[in-house]
Amino acid sequence: MIPFNKPYMTGKELWNISQAHHRGMLAGDGYFTRQCHSWLESRTGCRKALLTHSCTAALEMAAILADIRPGDEIIMPAYTFVSTANAFVLRGGIPVFVDIRPDTMNLDESLIESAITPKTRAIVPVHYAGIACEMDTIMAIADQHELLVIEDAAQGIMASYKDLPLGAIGHLGCLSFHETKNIISGEGGALLVNAERFAERAEIIREKGTNRSQFFRGMVDKYSWVDLGSSYLPGELIAAFLAAQMDEAEAITRDRRALWERYHTAFAPLEQAGWVRRPLVPAPCQHNAHMYYLLVKDLAERTALISHLESKGVHAVFHYVPLHSSPAGQRYGRSCGELPVTVALSDRLVRLPLWVGLDADRGLEKVIDAVESFFNK
Ligand SMILES: *Cc1c(COP(=O)(O)O)cnc(C)c1O
Repeated sequence: MIPFNKPYMTGKELWNISQAHHRGMLAGDGYFTRQCHSWLESRTGCRKALLTHSCTAALEMAAILADIRPGDEIIMPAYTFVSTANAFVLRGGIPVFVDIRPDTMNLDESLIESAITPKTRAIVPVHYAGIACEMDTIMAIADQHELLVIEDAAQGIMASYKDLPLGAIGHLGCLSFHETKNIISGEGGALLVNAERFAERAEIIREKGTNRSQFFRGMVDKYSWVDLGSSYLPGELIAAFLAAQMDEAEAITRDRRALWERYHTAFAPLEQAGWVRRPLVPAPCQHNAHMYYLLVKDLAERTALISHLESKGVHAVFHYVPLHSSPAGQRYGRSCGELPVTVALSDRLVRLPLWVGLDADRGLEKVIDAVESFFNK
């Protein structure tokens, strides 16, 4: 069976972990965390990078930094992972779901303004599949209406928009290092602080609401409880693992891109024959091959394709149940219109296996053959 995902290990993770062990400092913000922070800062150009337990945690920090109060509205797609919405709902915010673009499955920037009310506080673009949202337009709308932009760049490491790394464009950006993403630490994430005004408070929120970081920099003579916060920082073992992955980020991205391109070329005839639609990458986007998906005719065909692939030894999956139609989404959020594109496309999307090493033992060819045999039956 070809698994849908297989976490790639560079081979250097255990060495780094043994070094963290040897250093005898296992709590957060040690040697390896600093290494990851500088990698992220130099790579993305963000003002400050802070490792977190997950992208979910980074989004929660962003919601606190944005000072979301009960009744505040946050514009986002319904076609996303639950954490995009949950982080704001935890603070009493109301997710306002806007439809997606049919080409990229990203928030449709042309519909954002119609969703803005006096209660709107932020826009959360989700860069689906590591392919950027139309950020120039989104930033201009936010600017004009004095809204924050919090990028859900969970899938966006090593991808960019007009040469700007994803997560470093909005006021705040959130990354994931979950084992299903491109660069991993099991569970893990980071908050990228781009707007200077959030830099100091972000450190405090992450350190249980204390000014511990300032204390260690010698800026205050004792540390105390100064703000809201929680424990959002990972320990050094996680950071040690992640640092090994960051060292190989270029090679990992190159390998994934090569696999993605082979799928893309192989499925062109199926698209020409009208059986599937392949992913579209708009000109301003440099993507990271986070995902390869196909859009098929309808839900029945998707179900049939996934079980056909299963019978050929290929594990393919689908996502997401749109948040506006899920029980908690209905309770806590509201939709701006009917979201026809979200509803239509979410039933038709199939994700294929894509992981470093998939081409060993002709794995990629097996997936391609299995897909072709379904349509050429
Ligand atoms: C994976 C993912 C998340 C959550 O990331 P975690 O690190 O698992 O918390 C959030 N948003 C999107 C779009 C994701 O793909």
